Amino acid sequence: MAPSPSGATRQPTPLPAAQPEALPTALPEAQPGAPRLTPAELLADLSADLTRPGQLLLVQDLDGVCMELVRDPLQRHLDPAYLRSARRLDGRFSVLTNGEHEGRRGVNRLVERALHPDLDPAASGHYLPGLAAGGVQLQCRHGRVRTPGVSEPELAFLAAVPQRLINGLRPRLAGLLPDLSATALEEEVHAAVHDNPLSPTINLNRLFLRGDDPERRLAAALQQQALELMEQLLGDAEQEGLAGRFFLHIAPSVLDGAGREQPVWAGPTGLGSTDVQFMLQGAVKEAGLLVLINEHIGRHHGSHPLGADFNVRSAPGSIAALLALARQRIPARLMPRLVGVADTITSRPGPVPGQWQRGGSDRGFLTLLQELGRQFDRPNRVVLVDSSGGEVCRPSLADGSLRGLSDPADPLHLDALFPGGPPQYRRFFSELAECLPVPTGDQPV
Ligand SMILES: [Mg+2]
Repeated sequence: MAPSPSGATRQPTPLPAAQPEALPTALPEAQPGAPRLTPAELLADLSADLTRPGQLLLVQDLDGVCMELVRDPLQRHLDPAYLRSARRLDGRFSVLTNGEHEGRRGVNRLVERALHPDLDPAASGHYLPGLAAGGVQLQCRHGRVRTPGVSEPELAFLAAVPQRLINGLRPRLAGLLPDLSATALEEEVHAAVHDNPLSPTINLNRLFLRGDDPERRLAAALQQQALELMEQLLGDAEQEGLAGRFFLHIAPSVLDGAGREQPVWAGPTGLGSTDVQFMLQGAVKEAGLLVLINEHIGRHHGSHPLGADFNVRSAPGSIAALLALARQRIPARLMPRLVGVADTITSRPGPVPGQWQRGGSDRGFLTLLQELGRQFDRPNRVVLVDSSGGEVCRPSLADGSLRGLSDPADPLHLDALFPGGPPQYRRFFSELAECLPVPTGDQPV
């Protein structure tokens, strides 16, 4: 493959060349003519709708938004004040993440660690409500988790994936890093394979530290090996009667001409893709957004316009079809105003001047949210948080160019930016929550 995805299929994938296309150093002002709101203006804009039951739904990604990106997700931590704000925003707030609520690496463990040991989040309702694992894991704020639409054979296959990844990664890493001791090799393998129950992942952040070559050839080779191994697993699933039940989510990624995720290869300008996740088919955030809207309406109005069992596995597979379904089935008077808060969108120059390759795991749901606003005549807001300040290499919002994130022709309009990253967003979130009374029984944590 050329240093960046060529638009062809991902397999076969030759090792990437060292020099990816150079990103322009400056872009014309992105999306001219579309003014953005400052965080203070956004706060004023949203506060009136907060107090009207069912009127507002804030859908928020987690990693890089309310907490800094770190190389090892086990080292993440949540701010207790943020959890208190989320509790106060009950009924107006849902998370939407490719991480998971449960399991050793789950966000629920971070919630439990952040709170006072005397406080039981299941009783107090301090777990983060919403969808995880890309949309298949639905949780209420009391920590009750459901995985609607997921079958037993799928769960059984997923349970065996981490060990298969460990077995497959070990010889590949030994080949790429021949100087590693046996002990160090085992440590690296186990740090790279994340045993998430519904979305087992290879995470390359720690392995990337072993390369000091400015061309980042080792990082690109690691990306290549991770992808090959995951492709092999997809083949195994097919052999075991589960064809089409899983897909690979690459983060960050760009979409090729057919809308498939392609890696952002490491090179002199950046490290590119850090994670390859083995996901259940349908577990995409744009479908998850409709699930959350359906649940929100069910809670506030007593019936689910898409059916009580609607889930991402039964949802249509494209943004256009999701939009059409919403138009057809959701009465306009029930549609809440939506705010989408995220950090992962990408845009890189395409092979032809003036063309752009856009992607990123949050782009789909933000795009659907924007379109729902247009079609249902709601002032929906798309909000981007700068996640470049953490331990993971990400593009920054600091110079205002949005280089690597958006482009002058990007149809996704960003209504508000948080260049100060998660700390700035958490302050905003707290101020937003303060527009509402403290819930009864909510003790300091
Ligand atoms: Mg994120």
